[in-house]
Amino acid sequence: MLDLTYETPKPKVIAGAKQDWELVIGLEVHAQVASNAKLFSGASTAFGAEPNSNVSFVDAAMPGMLPVINEFCIEQAVRTGLGLNAEINLTSAFDRKNYFYPDLPQGYQISQLYHPIVGEGEILVDMGPGIARKVRIERIHLEQDAGKSIHDMDPAMSFVDLNRTGVALMEIVSRPDIRGPEEAAAYVGKLRQILRYLGTCDGNMQNGNLRADVNVSICSPGAYERYQETQDFSHLGTRCEIKNMNSMRFIQAAIEYEARRQIGIVEAGGTVDQETRLYDPDKGETRSMRSKEEAHDYRYFPCPDLLPLEIEQAWVDDIKASLPELPDAKKARFVLDLGMTEYDASVLTADAESAAFFEEVAQGRDGKLAANWVINELFGRLKKEDHLITESPMSAAQLGGIIDLISTGDISGKIAKDVFEIVYTEGGEPAEIVEARGMKQVTDTGAIEAAVDKIIAENPAQVEKAKQNPKLAGWFVGQVMKATGGKANPKAVNEIVSKKLG
Ligand code: ADP
Ligand code: MG
Repeated sequence: MLDLTYETPKPKVIAGAKQDWELVIGLEVHAQVASNAKLFSGASTAFGAEPNSNVSFVDAAMPGMLPVINEFCIEQAVRTGLGLNAEINLTSAFDRKNYFYPDLPQGYQISQLYHPIVGEGEILVDMGPGIARKVRIERIHLEQDAGKSIHDMDPAMSFVDLNRTGVALMEIVSRPDIRGPEEAAAYVGKLRQILRYLGTCDGNMQNGNLRADVNVSICSPGAYERYQETQDFSHLGTRCEIKNMNSMRFIQAAIEYEARRQIGIVEAGGTVDQETRLYDPDKGETRSMRSKEEAHDYRYFPCPDLLPLEIEQAWVDDIKASLPELPDAKKARFVLDLGMTEYDASVLTADAESAAFFEEVAQGRDGKLAANWVINELFGRLKKEDHLITESPMSAAQLGGIIDLISTGDISGKIAKDVFEIVYTEGGEPAEIVEARGMKQVTDTGAIEAAVDKIIAENPAQVEKAKQNPKLAGWFVGQVMKATGGKANPKAVNEIVSKKLG
């Protein structure tokens, strides 16, 4: 496997009134499994359905109903674990996490506290060319989502929508290895990218299909290194957990606010209370939701309705064999095999669809030229119209056709841009368009010579001047290009002009 080497970024240092502080951040990301059915029932997971229309008797917790595990969801959790280079636990088990809430008809959530399906893994979080942070994953477990309470439909009543109840979530828990607001956002971005490559979660943050609980603490410089050496959490500050963030921008803003709030408390001689907080994007602040003292005692115990989950190594191996090439490997291959810059490789591997498009264009062609046309022309054009690569009006074969015409010398880079515009807006086969519209580059030296002779004959005064000052030859080249509609091969024109002017 190809690997790029990276430097570790410096932690973000925040100046306080009395001393400098560093941030320590750990994330619990809830990723909805891309499954059409729920974790323990056959009800649909379709987004935006009529409230309470996707609710089975199991989801509604009718008496006597029993959960039946959805094998597809288990497979997606294993796939995700493998994609994060994590340990897969062949035996895991489900536990009940007991609490009361109107959107939780069972009175408990089925989760995996003691024996999660996935153990330790890691993610490389890119922070710019040549710089990346390795963030350890502690575990991934499967659990049910809860329903939704709706408080703003009626002044006196609240409503409950159970469509989401029982939908499969993967909770991906990181170690506290993230060292700044930008890194936290980049971590979520990288995780989202990998999940989307794997196809195990659609990563739609707006719909809440990917959301994060963000744990933040502050410490003095040097304290984190002592934690790293000993894995002893007492070297770190007390953390606050900001719940349910579904925007990378808000994650950054919330961490920045939270860091300043904690520094203010500690420098004033106080102590940070371990608590759960909520971020208010309108005010740009976090506020307390509940403190550790009021924290729930969930009375976890093994779910008596479900046997321990046993999976076979051979099944795990089959899933592993079916994994696609993931972003880090793809990026390294583009850099090391195709000689691309890391920046270009990052752009082209941002999502699996862009990478596949590029690879089709580059197949059998000059990789760098292909990268240049895909990034600068096609992506640039798509961005202007707010289109995704999957909505591109130009196919990889069409763009490849344009590049072929440049490589054979049939068209110049400049004319190629005109061809690009025609194919993009009108469609069609590049070679046919070039032929039909007479856009071929003139490399026939006879034709170029005739054009040069004509310009020279018509401009005797300019010829005299150019003979004194060779720099003026450029004027003739320009005239020839103009006379040929930009189709003359510029190199040939240059040569012939300097020869004729002596
Ligand atoms: P809980 O289940 O109560 O939320 P965990 O021990 O599972 O507690 O930790 C949850 C998250 O908090 C993990 O992502 C972990 O990395 C992070 N975390 C733990 N200690 C700290 C700390 N001092 N500062 C920042 N994050 C932390
Ligand atoms: Mg937590």
